[in-house]
Amino acid sequence: MSKPKEYSAMTKDKLMLYTLIALIAITVVSAILWYPVTPTNLMTGETSLNLGLTVILCALISVGVAVGIDALFYKLVSDSPLNLMSAAVFGLIVTLSYSLGLPSMNTEIGLPVVAPGAFIYVALISLVGMVLFKKLMGRKLVNPAAAAKMLVLLPLFNAVFIAVDHLKTGMLGVPALAGPIGAGILPVGGNGLASFSSYLQGCYANPALMSSPPDVTYLMIVEKFHGWVGGASSIAVIVAGIALFIVARRFIKWRITLAYFASIAIMSVLMSVAFADTDMTTRLLFEVFIGSSIFLGFFMATDPATTPITYTGQLIFGVGLGVLTVLIQTGMNFFGGSILALIIMNLTVSKLDQIGKLKPRTEKKEPKLPKAKQFPAEKVKEYQCMRCGACMRVCCHNLSPILIKQALDKQDFDTLAKLHADYCTGCGHCTFICPARLDLRKSVLTAKGMLRQE
Ligand code: SF4
Ligand code: SF4
Repeated sequence: MSKPKEYSAMTKDKLMLYTLIALIAITVVSAILWYPVTPTNLMTGETSLNLGLTVILCALISVGVAVGIDALFYKLVSDSPLNLMSAAVFGLIVTLSYSLGLPSMNTEIGLPVVAPGAFIYVALISLVGMVLFKKLMGRKLVNPAAAAKMLVLLPLFNAVFIAVDHLKTGMLGVPALAGPIGAGILPVGGNGLASFSSYLQGCYANPALMSSPPDVTYLMIVEKFHGWVGGASSIAVIVAGIALFIVARRFIKWRITLAYFASIAIMSVLMSVAFADTDMTTRLLFEVFIGSSIFLGFFMATDPATTPITYTGQLIFGVGLGVLTVLIQTGMNFFGGSILALIIMNLTVSKLDQIGKLKPRTEKKEPKLPKAKQFPAEKVKEYQCMRCGACMRVCCHNLSPILIKQALDKQDFDTLAKLHADYCTGCGHCTFICPARLDLRKSVLTAKGMLRQE
């Protein structure tokens, strides 16, 4: 039997498993919360499937489609890796970023916010996301769940994203965010400053408690009954998200989440001042805790493959995402604007990767490493780089092992020289920490040898 190898305990599969557990916890909370609701279409009087069961079935469908396609590609395409855990995470994100709704919101004909329409759409989004954005796109440029949702629901843009029946000019008369909003209990549909909180009450409150005065703080933080499945309870997302960040802090880009919510809060206050709101907290609570912000901020904005690799890049990414989210929501009346903002920011990642790289140095500085764990050599499975950036943070010479490996694969000697591969002293920390189990040390030392020959 070959000698066991020592690595940090975290592997890509383990990271995916922890993420999956956090997502399952959120799904269960949403399903339990929504279980007492059976939507009725106010236009037709038809009832559909209980909302809690709809959540569970949507989750099973999206995960089933994603895992099935992953397995199919593995069988049919020679170099397609089998990544069932990652596929399951993707499938669940599709369901948790999908909007399901209360009866009173189901006014737009054909709006797929309840069963069975919702089943068809989550299946389609999972299919398009897996095939187009996860399998066929060599390097993932945009978040697959966000891009697939935008693409599949594009024909329903006015009904789903802008929701024209929600606007002041539409059936529901929702006050525009590009104007003063307040906290009173005036009837929805008037021009009064106070009607936005009434809208939030009508849209998100427990149908059994609809007549109570609005408690917007409770609604936005504890339980909403409309919108992104994953955002039904902000507090559940925060608890699951923070638990995941603590367990995998070296590998998850939590700085993006922090910068995102800080910039959303600041932008919201600025908008309140600009539009002379009578009550700043209503807008603030809405912008920070709307399902699309809270779920996306914790579980989509941190997708390692489509976000910057450096800390500075991550902070800029988070700020840009927050600013764009508020601008899109305010200017376009696009209440889930974070999804469009995410796709736009994903496209800036190659530029942001250039910002904040540590300066390579010849002198050695030992980093603090996580505890070592032994793995039997035959159980060490190599994956594709997941762009967590951990290898860059443990190099005692501040090198960027993953960038050196990529330049080596392309035989790009100019970049290898710029990245100072020749400073490597072969300590192996980069290989030790890599959750994808890439032999970075070997790549960097090969690059060093090539540079010497040059
Ligand atoms: S093996 Fe080389 S590149 Fe990797 S951490 Fe050590 S010095 Fe840095
Ligand atoms: S090569 Fe570096 S960035 Fe890629 S997965 Fe390994 S540690 Fe993370």
